[in-house]
Amino acid sequence: MELTSIARPALLETMEQDMLIGGRRVAAASGKRFETRNPATGELLAMVAQGDAEDVDRAVKAARAALEGPWRRMKPAERQRIMLRLADLVEAHYDELAMLDTLDLGAPLSRTVLGKTRAAALLRYYAGQATLIAGDTLNNSAPGDVLSHTLKEPVGVVAAINPWNGPVGMAVWKTGPVLASGCTLVMKPAEQTPLSALRFAELCLEAGVPEGVINVVTGLGDTGAALSAHPGVDKIAFTGSTGVGEKIIKAAAPTMKRVTVELGGKSPNIVFADADLDKAVPAAAMAVFANSGQICSAGTRLFVQSSIREEFMERLAAFTRTIRVGDPLDPQTQIGPVVSAPQMDKILGYIEGARGEGAQALVGGSRLAGPGYDDGFFVAPTIFTDVQDGMTIAQEEIFGPVLSAFSFDTAEEVLERANATPFGLGSGVWTRDLSTAHRMARGIRAGSVWVNCYQMLDPGVPFGGFGVSGFGRESGPHHIEEYLETKAVWINLD
Ligand code: ADP
Repeated sequence: MELTSIARPALLETMEQDMLIGGRRVAAASGKRFETRNPATGELLAMVAQGDAEDVDRAVKAARAALEGPWRRMKPAERQRIMLRLADLVEAHYDELAMLDTLDLGAPLSRTVLGKTRAAALLRYYAGQATLIAGDTLNNSAPGDVLSHTLKEPVGVVAAINPWNGPVGMAVWKTGPVLASGCTLVMKPAEQTPLSALRFAELCLEAGVPEGVINVVTGLGDTGAALSAHPGVDKIAFTGSTGVGEKIIKAAAPTMKRVTVELGGKSPNIVFADADLDKAVPAAAMAVFANSGQICSAGTRLFVQSSIREEFMERLAAFTRTIRVGDPLDPQTQIGPVVSAPQMDKILGYIEGARGEGAQALVGGSRLAGPGYDDGFFVAPTIFTDVQDGMTIAQEEIFGPVLSAFSFDTAEEVLERANATPFGLGSGVWTRDLSTAHRMARGIRAGSVWVNCYQMLDPGVPFGGFGVSGFGRESGPHHIEEYLETKAVWINLD
């Protein structure tokens, strides 16, 4: 479909957007609402129900009741059928979901529509897993004739707490293993981008997911805090900042909830002199600038081997100057605004700080001003040179379109420097040398190493972090294990 013919989503005809609990759209018990606005224009999109502890409690109870209802007895093949129907529905409605994210997040429509393939593939992958869950029959050496086997059971009520940088994709990713395993879900989308999760949850109902299996509680950080502390939640799947991740782990501790956290990053992207520069230059730029830098595994630390540094940086700067930043609805736009004024201020603060520490902005380095920019939160794609490894911009996650560029001489040296942050989420290596590629892949401390590519994701391949980038892996054959309890059964046959 032509991007320009994608309609304004029908959901936006209603200004007051309610939560979805137990199959019904409901206002917050307190009646409170918060605004969600288009970060490109400032337009008020909706007044969204602001859930508090009481609403969280309602949602957790609905999820618990659903867990103990017909959902529990539903055969895996039936769950699978529902999930495949959901995949078809998400595909059929993806333009609408993409448009909601474009308006709510500011990501270009040309980018959000591309999420369709992945969203449908994720649901179909997890649908496949629904019928593959299996325990083991295990040998034991107990005296007598004793049979032992394991049962795999759904872990229970799952709380998903989501970030704003890829709203519908994240909602789908969090829902797949819940439905496949027979768990139930209370999802809290980010306050900046709550709309597409609500629409997606409606599609779940339409696909035949029973009421109460997927609930969406909208609200601010304290809504997430109430959810992560609720004793009726059995597992938390969180994606977001490392700081909030730490709070969630603590909140989960008293009732020993299972927790997986996918957190921040400061990912290295390493270009060796023998790399194919025609590929590496644009990829290095988009590794950090895509989605305005609001990707946890963005390649924010670029290491270029000294012998090609000058040529590479010139080409990178030239490419970066061609990136079209602007109206997310314009099909030509590659990069939109950042999500909010506070996020823009945070990014501009890092930029100022970097200058103060002696780094030089080779490209960008400011907010974009002028017609088309003034009502939104647009930050120019920015490349800093003369960055030292210890500087704040080289150590902290910025979550904006800001690249720190370094040079290096040897593989050993760059490996040590690449690993010298507490994070470990993504990483890139550009080389034509097989030994270099494999040695770097082994040496880098990160959950993903992309060689001669960046940011590849697939439902069949695990994604997650080392160190303060979190623990647990999403996607891949073992993800579903996080949603299953293993019970050992001993049967004395004597
Ligand atoms: P981001 O970097 O995407 O802004 P955050 O970690 O700030 O990430 O937020 C991610 C999600 O965590 C959001 O849905 C937010 O409302 C929620 N959140 C914020 N504070 C807390 C908290 N103390 N406990 C639980 N969830 C929280």
